[in-house]
Amino acid sequence: MELKTFTGGIHPDYRKEATAYKATEEIALPEEVVIQMRQHVGAPNEPTVSAGDRVEAGTTIGSTEAFVSAPVHASVSGEVTEISEQISFSGALVNSVTIKVDPDQPDKWTGKKNLEGITPEQIREIAKESGLVGLGGAAFPTHIKLSPPADKPIDIVIINGCECEPFLTCDHRVMLENTEDLIEGLKLMMKAVGAGKGIIGIEANKMDVVEAVESKTASESGVEVMPLEVKYPQGNEKMLIDALTGRRVPPGKLPSEVGVLVQNSGTAVALYKAASTGRPVIDRIITVSGSGIREPKNVRVRIGTRIEHVIEQCGGFVNNPEKVIMGGPMTGFAQKSLSAPTVKGTSGIVVLTGKETGESEERECVGCGKCVDACPMFLMPNSIVKYIKRNQYEKADKYGVKDCFECGCCSYVCPARIHHVGYVRIAKAELAAKK
Ligand code: SF4
Ligand code: SF4
Repeated sequence: MELKTFTGGIHPDYRKEATAYKATEEIALPEEVVIQMRQHVGAPNEPTVSAGDRVEAGTTIGSTEAFVSAPVHASVSGEVTEISEQISFSGALVNSVTIKVDPDQPDKWTGKKNLEGITPEQIREIAKESGLVGLGGAAFPTHIKLSPPADKPIDIVIINGCECEPFLTCDHRVMLENTEDLIEGLKLMMKAVGAGKGIIGIEANKMDVVEAVESKTASESGVEVMPLEVKYPQGNEKMLIDALTGRRVPPGKLPSEVGVLVQNSGTAVALYKAASTGRPVIDRIITVSGSGIREPKNVRVRIGTRIEHVIEQCGGFVNNPEKVIMGGPMTGFAQKSLSAPTVKGTSGIVVLTGKETGESEERECVGCGKCVDACPMFLMPNSIVKYIKRNQYEKADKYGVKDCFECGCCSYVCPARIHHVGYVRIAKAELAAKK
């Protein structure tokens, strides 16, 4: 079988076996949830409720008129106890609505609507009203992605089923446990943008998903499943488009430039659920894994559940954990506090022990060039870092620092343990401030 891929990249130890074949579990509800007003790329929401209000799961509790935004909903029924700034996964303080959870949580989204006559406008409206954002972690509002400019027609929609980060298996389970919804979600996206072709790209370490999707798309015209080589960062939009279509997105441009829309597999499933049942984004599946967690598993959590509650529901810590990461180990955020709540873009909680963090002191570059070979954007991470260390940000800019999408491949292969992404983030902030 031919496996598609891109040039560059790395083969980290994937460590997915601890959770890949475990069905998703429901965890006990926490006593309270903390729903943050900034969970997406774009303008933050303003709370539309006050302390003392009673809310039902699915009630809109935060919104804004800003164009690039997505509303947030109560993920549980209960009483609003506080509106205050709370720590987020990034360490920043974010305005949040705290809800004390009722013991009884009726599920009102059970019946399914017939979507045969649904229009592109209705699909975009449903995506917006349900607060849908890219659930792979990017958290870009979905209704905006489903509204490409008129001069950039989309002919292919790609569902990103790669999940190339080590440890994470939530997309694997979402696709396997909701295969029909995945395909229906893709068809809604194709209809919204008027694309005639849909591709579901899945890394070859999930052949059970490839087979499940193939068996259900055999009679679908215009929908194809394409297995991909297992390689990091295969799930990056630009790498995925290159591998599946041979089209190259120019530096600084979006996939619409080459007629492609990419959406995460979980987003497609959530869109279909929103359209067919009215269910907004109030929960999601996340992977809890790493050798520092007692019972690694995939769990369904309500948005706003604090990390400490999720860890407790997975048996707590073992083996002296050293680092707790929200997201995957390559692009996730190390946590200073376990009280940060999960947000729509939370794909995992990874708990690493000393050996696994692989952290050691940074040394001088030895000029081996391994980072250049690994960079999927064909950048020169060694030169970029050299200029950033000298505060020569314009030179780093000329070497393409703004095209770096912070995948971490360069740091992974670097024998001098240079943390390129940290330098890149400094340079991007400096260049943005100067602009
Ligand atoms: S320079 Fe950026 S895009 Fe290239 S490997 Fe490093 S982190 Fe990835
Ligand atoms: S991999 Fe590290 S040591 Fe080798 S050239 Fe790149 S920055 Fe220098």
